[in-house]
Amino acid sequence: MRFSVLASGSTGNAVYVENDEHAFLVDVGLSGKKMEQLFAKIDRDMSKLSGILVTHEHSDHIKGLGVVARKYKIPVFANEKTWQAMDGHIGNIPTEQRFHFDMEAVQSFGSLSIESFAVSHDAIDPMFYVFHEGDRKLVIITDTGYVSDRMKGIIRGADTFVFESNHDIGMLQMGRYPWSIKRRILSDVGHVSNEDAAIAMSEVVFEKPTHIYLSHLSKDNNMKDLARMSVTQTLQSNGIITGEFVHLHDTDAEEPTLLVTV
Ligand SMILES: [Zn+2]
Ligand SMILES: [Zn+2]
Repeated sequence: MRFSVLASGSTGNAVYVENDEHAFLVDVGLSGKKMEQLFAKIDRDMSKLSGILVTHEHSDHIKGLGVVARKYKIPVFANEKTWQAMDGHIGNIPTEQRFHFDMEAVQSFGSLSIESFAVSHDAIDPMFYVFHEGDRKLVIITDTGYVSDRMKGIIRGADTFVFESNHDIGMLQMGRYPWSIKRRILSDVGHVSNEDAAIAMSEVVFEKPTHIYLSHLSKDNNMKDLARMSVTQTLQSNGIITGEFVHLHDTDAEEPTLLVTV
């Protein structure tokens, strides 16, 4: 199994996952044109996609969904409530391209199994995905206000995590956002901070090589260096030295991460 975080952040999210038989895109949060550019950068072709997996209906996850799905005739998977919530925002998706991926379900595509799980976020029925192939496990978890014990049970022991590290609490509190938005971000259905993400990470990593991609960084309330430093420190105070088993990686709002094997 190989993957690339094509783009990550409040301006648009998309993660590419493939094995030898199938290729999937989790969310299409950028315009069709930008998506084509990102695919070109990893030397892949959108017409080869087996499916698009939708996490939730926020625009930073579905902005280019309709355009891309129609142009390349790609099957789209989402749960029922998310389909309803997307209605009127993505244009018409032909019936033969509309598929259900229920909450807390597993669907298999050859040797690749994909598992959905619920997160805590202010969308209608938000969920993220775990990819399994053989003994390898890739977890994508962003857009959640906190990481519950239930979520930890599902994501535990992955080889690679695409993990939300949304904001620095100090920057958010000092920043220019109105109080209502600050309260939303900090709430149980908003986004996880660098520190809270790292505390959760420390509870789900095993003593084996583990790669964590710090994702969905806020443009206004975080910085790559700060996220990395803060996560490193919090992991350390929870007994995990980065560089030993756990390796941290940046993601970017516009540049894909290297397509690597999980
Ligand atoms: Zn969201
Ligand atoms: Zn988002």
